[in-house]
Amino acid sequence: MGGINVKITMIEALMQTVAPHPCFGCGKIGTTLCDNCKYNIIDEPFSGCILCGNVSPEALCAQHDAPICKAWVVAERRTVLRRVIDAYKFEYVKAAGHTLIELLDAKLPILPADTIIIPIPTAPSHIRQRGYDHLEILARLLGRRREMPVTHLLLRSSAKTQHRLNKVERQQEASGAFHISPHLSIDSNTPILLLDDIVTTGSTITSAARVLADAGFKTVFVAALAYQPLD
Ligand SMILES: [Zn+2]
Ligand SMILES: [Zn+2]
Repeated sequence: MGGINVKITMIEALMQTVAPHPCFGCGKIGTTLCDNCKYNIIDEPFSGCILCGNVSPEALCAQHDAPICKAWVVAERRTVLRRVIDAYKFEYVKAAGHTLIELLDAKLPILPADTIIIPIPTAPSHIRQRGYDHLEILARLLGRRREMPVTHLLLRSSAKTQHRLNKVERQQEASGAFHISPHLSIDSNTPILLLDDIVTTGSTITSAARVLADAGFKTVFVAALAYQPLD
């Protein structure tokens, strides 16, 4: 009995490596996202501010005092982009991670050469659930593409996660959620690219940026895969 199960598991593993993945957009067999569907996402202008959701030509509108120089986001988390993100985060389709970073890379301008990437620290409970740190992998993929180092300058102070919190609770929870690693010393003139996957209220990204600003960092950029308004 056990032997058969082992055999099935092996076949499944083999199938996942040899079977070409259909495109998340149109179903065309080949890659996780065909060129057509990729450009549809990239070309669609993102028209909301990631901190307030208001219509804005930039991903960060002028009305915030958050210490963020500039922000970029691939698109709103819906339709095709949503499918790719969900496949990466919840269905272990790691090829989708490469696709997501390709999309983000296409949205980002040329950044200062000495920019370092700091992923928003993932909650330990999420890493345990998935068996890997999904944002860390994305940060490394982006770092390889852009030749920027990934640094864990930010550490998580609180073990709570934000899934079941409303907007006010999220803001309270987010302030004090991070601190600067005592093990690293980085010149505060170094530009920082904060990386997050999905931005909802912007409270996490704002508090992370504030911790960095309080530590003297002058240039904090934000890059996110998707924006999702809190419903
Ligand atoms: Zn397609
Ligand atoms: Zn705004």
